[in-house]
Amino acid sequence: MRQIIEQLPSYLADQIAAGEVVERPASVVKELLENALDSGATQIEVLVEEGGEKSITIQDNGLGIPQAELLLAVSRHATSKIKTGADLASVATLGFRGEALASISSVSRFEIVSRHESEAAGWKLSAEGEGRWGEPQPTAGKIGTRVTVSDLFFNTPARKKFLRTAKTEFSQIDQLVKRVMLSRPEVGFKLVHNHKVVRQVFAVTDEASLQKRLSQLMGASFVQQSLAIAFETQDIKLSGWVGLPTFNRSQTDMQYIFVNGRIVRDRLLSYAVKQAYADVMYHGRHPAYLIFIEMPHDLVDVNVHPAKYEVRFANGRWVYDFLRRSVREAVAKPVVSETGTGAP
Ligand code: ADP
Ligand code: MG
Repeated sequence: MRQIIEQLPSYLADQIAAGEVVERPASVVKELLENALDSGATQIEVLVEEGGEKSITIQDNGLGIPQAELLLAVSRHATSKIKTGADLASVATLGFRGEALASISSVSRFEIVSRHESEAAGWKLSAEGEGRWGEPQPTAGKIGTRVTVSDLFFNTPARKKFLRTAKTEFSQIDQLVKRVMLSRPEVGFKLVHNHKVVRQVFAVTDEASLQKRLSQLMGASFVQQSLAIAFETQDIKLSGWVGLPTFNRSQTDMQYIFVNGRIVRDRLLSYAVKQAYADVMYHGRHPAYLIFIEMPHDLVDVNVHPAKYEVRFANGRWVYDFLRRSVREAVAKPVVSETGTGAP
């Protein structure tokens, strides 16, 4: 028998929408890290307990959120990052959908504490999955934002069932945090799991700190057996490091490409690099690389998928060809004395 049509309560609509972005603890960490980076933070701490299933806390020293906007920050379709369709066509921040905090808070016990740079105190807001936020409460705190997500999926058992062991969930978080650390050399990060520091990197200030950070994240042998690249053409800038053909691997686990500082998974981009190595690498072996692609924001569509791992280029062919030709030029005639040092 048919039932009457009713509008869903907004927390339930949020829980349903959360399915698109909040798949597991690592997706929470990704969204919260993006927010911290978008806020201009230079120091970010990620504290995780039991693979993120028990709790995830992200603390940043960014601009913070004014008290008057705190409730909006956790509401769906509310964002400070875009205002118009034209802005959407040229997104310069990592976030823009205005959905992450609403989604995450609908499937967890959630607390946000923020102090905007213009305010004398911090303000705290919390809820337990049903969107009953109450009034922000004043609290002590430094400028910046701290979000704590506890008991993820406590109210959505169907989702919770799909969580793996804490070890597996943490390894996903660790891989993600490592990628983010690679993507933003100018930001210091600390990752703590069950009260133990797992990774810590300091903001890059000079060539020596850059080399140190690269070696921490990619390994000393990559640093020794890679070349710094820097290529530029109309509308595209490439930089980073490409492994020498001698530094090949059985897996594709050391391949990182960032587009305008964003972590992307683009098969065509990886394929372009693979082709660049085709003549110098044995079949079945894989290169290692860390490549930054910078281009005007209006030539990259980031609004392809809710998780924002996919992008579309206005001039895809041009990007792939330039990437393939540049990397090929670098690895085809490697100068052995150049050992990955030099400007990115
Ligand atoms: P989006 O990032 O797409 O705008 P979110 O739901 O992730 O959507 O965040 C909503 C808004 O809350 C952001 O636009 C931003 O203004 C504010 N915000 C969230 N996290 C932070 C943070 N760590 N520091 C400062 N502002 C934040
Ligand atoms: Mg966001």
